[in-house]
Amino acid sequence: KRKNRLSKAAYVEGILAGDRLVLSRAITLVESTNQADLALADEVLSDVLPHTGKAMRVGITGVPGVGKSTFIEAFGSHLTSNGQQLAVLTIDPSSQKTKGSILGDKTRMEELARDPNAFIRPSASGSTLGGVSNKTREVMLLCEAAGFDVILIETVGVGQSETLVHGMVDFFLLLMLAGAGDELQGIKKGIMEMAHAVVINKADGDNLKPAKRAKVEYQNALHLFPADPSGWVPQVKICSARDKTGIAEVWEMMQKHSEQVTTNGFLQSNRQAQQLSWFKENVQELLGSKFYRSEQVKAELEILTQKVKAGEVPALKAAHQLVDVFFGG
Ligand code: GDP
Repeated sequence: KRKNRLSKAAYVEGILAGDRLVLSRAITLVESTNQADLALADEVLSDVLPHTGKAMRVGITGVPGVGKSTFIEAFGSHLTSNGQQLAVLTIDPSSQKTKGSILGDKTRMEELARDPNAFIRPSASGSTLGGVSNKTREVMLLCEAAGFDVILIETVGVGQSETLVHGMVDFFLLLMLAGAGDELQGIKKGIMEMAHAVVINKADGDNLKPAKRAKVEYQNALHLFPADPSGWVPQVKICSARDKTGIAEVWEMMQKHSEQVTTNGFLQSNRQAQQLSWFKENVQELLGSKFYRSEQVKAELEILTQKVKAGEVPALKAAHQLVDVFFGG
């Protein structure tokens, strides 16, 4: 696999030319655990960075069964038929630990998978979902450099990856169903609070009336949350991903949001803040992993663990001693 590594220039040129094959291989490089791969990936990312930032970054979440993949198919086809290029990245927190995946099999989004204007890629969540091993941000940047207009990042709304995704997108969409309570849907209040829009799916057939009622309820609920710093008022929409109704309205709403935050400068300041907090998180993670990989730290940790257990050294003092082993006291 490693023999197939391209040159830096080949990656950069391929990505900037929108070459899907090169893009895929660059993503694999970014997601690699091999140190040489990662060093090259860093260089590629640095080179393409000036060509990023032009896409609309959208996060979408909702519990399994709410209709995420059906919605993304309908929404995606709407975009691509309007001449937009769409990249879909999916983060599946279950795929790492268990072989079974919440997001299911390869047959998801079949239509979009065949669409030449769409690009679908599952994003490996790595060992720590929110940590540096999660490369979704970097993958997003590669896709932007490759010229995609919209990047859609999908997560399963079970409360683990939503904060992560919210921290890398401009617009966060929560898909819900009518009739089921929030608890039933497994949606935490914190996730509702992060949403720029709640879209009630399956508003079709007998479900249309309950969906309209739920819309009013959610609208009232969202008004209780503190105002968004961007000045955006969270919206509630209904749609049927199956019948492809209400989809255009969701896209119009996102465009409106985009216009608003571009005009008032929030988009830029928010992205800056997101980059800075990602930088800080990376520093913390890297410090931690380098620290615990140090042989001296490992040895001293073992000794101090025994001493703390035996009550010979206070925990605080032991912590100071351990840190001093690495940084010098
Ligand atoms: P996901 O787990 O959130 O990705 O949900 P899926 O997209 O796989 O949809 C779950 C089930 O709901 C499938 O059987 C879909 O056919 C169905 N479904 C999705 N969207 C709609 C919709 O708008 N209306 C109706 N009636 N069924 C839908």
